[in-house]
Amino acid sequence: MNRIRILVLNAALSALDYRLPEGVAAPAGSVVMAPLGPRKVMGIVWDEGRLPGEEIAVERLRPILEVLPVPPLAAPLRRLIEWTADYYCAPLASVARMALASGGALGGPSTMTEYRLSGGVPERMTAQRHAAIEALAGQQGTMRELAGIAGVSEGVLRGLVNQGVIAPVTVKIDRPYAPADPDHAPPDLSPQQATVAGVLVGAVTARAFQPFLLDGVTGSGKTETYFEAVAQALRMGQQVLVLLPEIALTENFLARFAARFGAAPVLWHSSLKSTERRRAWRAIADGSAQVIVGARSALFLPYARLGLIVVDEAHEVSFKQDDGVRYNARDVAVMRARFESVPVVLVSATPALESLFMANQGTYQRLELPSRFGGACLPRIALVDLTREKPRSQRWLAAPLIEALKLRLERGEQSLLFLNRRGYAPLTLCRNCGHRFKCPSCSAWLVEHRLSSRLACHHCGFETRVPDTCPECGESDCLVACGPGVERIADEVRELFPEARLAVATSDTLSSPARAAAFIAAAENKAIDIIIGTQLVTKGFHFPDLTLVGVVDADLGLEGGDLRAGERTYSQIAQVAGRAGRAAKPGEVLIQTRHPDAPVIAALASGDRDGFYAAETESRRDAGAPPFGRWAAIILSSEDEKEAREAAHRLGQNKPGSDDLYVLGPAPAPLSLLRGRYRFRFLVNARRSAPLQKVLRDWIAAHSLPPGVRVGIDIDPYSFV
Ligand SMILES: [Zn+2]
Ligand SMILES: [Zn+2]
Repeated sequence: MNRIRILVLNAALSALDYRLPEGVAAPAGSVVMAPLGPRKVMGIVWDEGRLPGEEIAVERLRPILEVLPVPPLAAPLRRLIEWTADYYCAPLASVARMALASGGALGGPSTMTEYRLSGGVPERMTAQRHAAIEALAGQQGTMRELAGIAGVSEGVLRGLVNQGVIAPVTVKIDRPYAPADPDHAPPDLSPQQATVAGVLVGAVTARAFQPFLLDGVTGSGKTETYFEAVAQALRMGQQVLVLLPEIALTENFLARFAARFGAAPVLWHSSLKSTERRRAWRAIADGSAQVIVGARSALFLPYARLGLIVVDEAHEVSFKQDDGVRYNARDVAVMRARFESVPVVLVSATPALESLFMANQGTYQRLELPSRFGGACLPRIALVDLTREKPRSQRWLAAPLIEALKLRLERGEQSLLFLNRRGYAPLTLCRNCGHRFKCPSCSAWLVEHRLSSRLACHHCGFETRVPDTCPECGESDCLVACGPGVERIADEVRELFPEARLAVATSDTLSSPARAAAFIAAAENKAIDIIIGTQLVTKGFHFPDLTLVGVVDADLGLEGGDLRAGERTYSQIAQVAGRAGRAAKPGEVLIQTRHPDAPVIAALASGDRDGFYAAETESRRDAGAPPFGRWAAIILSSEDEKEAREAAHRLGQNKPGSDDLYVLGPAPAPLSLLRGRYRFRFLVNARRSAPLQKVLRDWIAAHSLPPGVRVGIDIDPYSFV
């Protein structure tokens, strides 16, 4: 029969049946337009047996309107969409939408007009025309591009078009990308690197699912090593997906890629222009995009010939998406590789405990690069006990760190001070009446940003000018900044070393790829003596003259104490420490702490990574936390506090419970007000044997909640606020 089941891209509707008109082919995975009442909706033809829907009599079926001119989503991608929706308790339509993430691309190929010289000469040659014709030799582009190249107005060029000197050419909008050459500049690998590269190349050649954990200290040359697997995939005509955590800060990676392969990779991230997005999507779907470097959303794209997935900096928490479909890209990458039958490589110097656990179990094959490339040695790490070495009042740098900075300045070497707190001060209060500045739509303090003279909420983006008087008591000159942010540390350093050249490196100051590139260039050219930065500087930078890393407050990440606090602190400080002494000069790391005996801090100081992971693993086992048990968070929110509270209370009265699953809550979430919504939270802890997702779905589906209440389910949550 000509009945087809469509996954309608509308989370509330999901599956509907339609009729396939005579003579139209639409195999599973085809993207179609279908009528819905008086409207049109987009949908994907789905495998009927895998998508429950309402049986409608054949004669009542409406025909689909159109099959869109894009390749059907292949079966492995459809299975991935199903798995993701099921595992993360998300609507199938919301997950499927991520695969079709370019509206423009779905309309099919299309053309545009470009111009180039025809070889003719104008009737009247002027100096300006002559110069323009010279400049345009061998060029082709839009009117605007050519005007830019020739340095004349578009009007001058139009005159030349009218005389037939410049001719229009019709070109495809989606121009092909420059090809990457696997043999452009093969590297000189160390014997260790060569061994690891050999294993990865073998796995790409075998074209079978195989997960790897590439575990190598910072500076060991992990990237060059997995580039050999990328090269092998290119030789085999396969596509490669490389996931990176911070796509805005990939300058260094892109330069290395271009040096190795002679061309840039295809980029995929949320700030692409719609034309770039369209071009990338179509090239990914037709197989002509060879290597795609993307943020987590690149995972769901319709690759035509995927041969390898790499997740670089795989420990990064930014691979976890915390709104919309709440998925962890690291875990979904492994699933995609499984469905596609290709190898996947998780790359990290400080792997997530879950990944190490899988490697220790033998589920992932572990590949190690235990030493630094080119003979550079790991930095020397020492603790500064702040209970003995007290900084002066309202100052945060202790004497040993100040001495070490001074020494670097004398030697002409660079230093990096790390504090994971943007802005000037995390809290501002009134000395006169005690008023604290709070966000109007979140239960959070406003952070002072002195560089922009603003108080800002880091949760919702609310900003206001720093007032001259206290809004509560009206007193002037009474506001006090409490605690340090990076801007305040910069002030302290400026006071200590007025002649030093400083750079503050945070998401505020490096907010665009251009600004990030300028910062990197300045640091490489030694135009910066001291960098003061947040977690942004823990990633991927490589400055040969940087020999000192100072961790201003190692205890910061341990406060608040969520499940991963210890691991996150360890990985963050180990990563930032890895920035020191990456070339010939040895590095030194000073870690300021009030708790030198805390297991995380002691492990950092002694370099006992295995010991830290072993202790952390045991405490997770005791708590039934991942990877031994599972957590889920359920947040109910509403703009009306009473409505949210009542809905949570009603849900709480029927909460499920069994030997292998228990539910805590409801309780006001730690961030009880966020973006104007009041939030109540349940935490679920389950053994691995419990059917967690099914229990949650059944529980929530049994309650009809008011339309103002939103329910968010977060499986394997990273954020506990
Ligand atoms: Zn006041
Ligand atoms: Zn806010």
